[in-house]
Amino acid sequence: MGEDEISCGHAPKGGVSERPRASTKATAKRESDRPVKWIVVTGGVLSGLGKGVAAASIGNLLATKYRVIPIKCDGYLNVDPGTMNPIEHGEVFVLDDGGEVDMDFGHYERFLGVTCRFEWNLTMGKVYERIREAERRGDYLGKTVQLIPHVTDLIKDWWKRIAEEEGADVILLEIGGTVGDIENELYIEAARQMKRDVGEENIMYVHLTYVPVPEHVNEPKSKPTQQSVTLLRERGIFPDAILARCHQPLDERLKEKIATFCDVTKERVISAVDVDSVYCIPIKFAEQGMTRIVDEELHINHLEENKEWRALTERMSAKHPRSITVAIAGKYTKLEDSYASVIEALRHCEAAFDVKIDLKWIEVSDHHDLEREMKGVDGVIVPGGFGSRGVEGKIDMVRYCREHDVPYLGLCYGLQMAVIEFARNVCGLAGANTTEVDGQTKYPVVDILPEQKKITKKGGTMRLGAYPAVLKEGTTVHALYGSDEASERHRHRYEVNPAYHQVLEEHGLVFSGVSPDGTLVEFIENPELRYFVGTQAHPELKSSLLKPAPLFYGLVKACLKQ
Ligand code: GLN
Repeated sequence: MGEDEISCGHAPKGGVSERPRASTKATAKRESDRPVKWIVVTGGVLSGLGKGVAAASIGNLLATKYRVIPIKCDGYLNVDPGTMNPIEHGEVFVLDDGGEVDMDFGHYERFLGVTCRFEWNLTMGKVYERIREAERRGDYLGKTVQLIPHVTDLIKDWWKRIAEEEGADVILLEIGGTVGDIENELYIEAARQMKRDVGEENIMYVHLTYVPVPEHVNEPKSKPTQQSVTLLRERGIFPDAILARCHQPLDERLKEKIATFCDVTKERVISAVDVDSVYCIPIKFAEQGMTRIVDEELHINHLEENKEWRALTERMSAKHPRSITVAIAGKYTKLEDSYASVIEALRHCEAAFDVKIDLKWIEVSDHHDLEREMKGVDGVIVPGGFGSRGVEGKIDMVRYCREHDVPYLGLCYGLQMAVIEFARNVCGLAGANTTEVDGQTKYPVVDILPEQKKITKKGGTMRLGAYPAVLKEGTTVHALYGSDEASERHRHRYEVNPAYHQVLEEHGLVFSGVSPDGTLVEFIENPELRYFVGTQAHPELKSSLLKPAPLFYGLVKACLKQ
């Protein structure tokens, strides 16, 4: 795996407030006689418009009553995004089942309250792998295996199987990329065919487009939307609703124009206006009649508003009485999407504490004058990371936080950095390191997991997914989780070397959570400091608006106490 891999977590129990979380299996069992409803979301004009958030927002409105299952289809040939650089692709989201998936699954889990599965992320890498296996097995004996119908049938069967296995009421089907991309054509074609398969009363198509406001004319232009809908219609899909992303609300005249060209009623053109908080989007959609449109198309009705969600989002968009600054010290800071879930976990704390959290990005691979940079910083997060670039910068940052008692949260690599710093500067083990960076170090305080030693393949082979930890009573971590056990998601190959557990503990580092067999350090803390916590896991992945991740909650609380 490349030097620039990143990881990203699980649902904490107790500690903050109880959040209803659906398990992997159906919670609200679907009435068997009711057909599954399909909402297909496609995108046009350009990438990066927030199709995942838009789809998750529609789902959020339905999830108060129905079991909504998201499926995301990506066009790339990687089996999963685990082998991609986060600077290029954004965060790799990790699921309980260990699947490494597209970061849109973060939005789905946060907006729908479901625990997603690896199977729900199709990639052309996975699709072609299965086609090839089936061909070699002889499933198509005597036939010429073709993109249509064989690949499209495989895709449709995959979607239908998920709907069946999960007892879904509604499938939210997000097609990756932008209409017209070669690599997504087969998903679009399969989505078109679905109308005939499931009946037109059971499927609707939503198209997200972009309405630019060019500086020289200073008025919103609908042409790209018209052209992108034309591309979609050439492929046989006639959208039932248009979500038009624009940095200003669309006026009635423009909605009318888009409606005329795209063959929908004006009420079916929804203004997807830029917002400060993505959590407001479901409410914005609802205000413009999104639930009515879904009801008209799919006969899904009697939806109740999620009142707790509305109250929290209102609190988020109101002016907060206090503010703090949290520094994120990493090496993928040029693309904030690389740390998407870390940012979201902090946003959840904003709502919980009614505080504005300003983020300060510190690129650790650059040279730093920490005294100057840390002015006004209330707390620090060192997030996950891989490889040697930026490691010494992270260790310097940990040292600064320990020596100045700045609240610190280390996530995965951030825990390992804290252990290395403690070994070097408190235990006196000069040159201590992780063998990921220095294979020859005299003091390998962080070393490769034994089961990882024989692994040579890079894809999907890290220690991945949810693992439980036993928490030590009387520790900060135990108090935050409010439980003797915590289960969080992992994505790593290295661990605190058991040969150094004793020396670290003798010098005052507390292992506040360990694997049930006691061999792996999952949580650490320094009880002499106000808040100095690290975890080998990625708790940011299970944080949600209704239940912020306990360790983030603890960090923000400590920052506020200063
Ligand atoms: N590179 C470290 C490991 O593999 C940490 C990984 C991470 O931060 N996700 O153990």
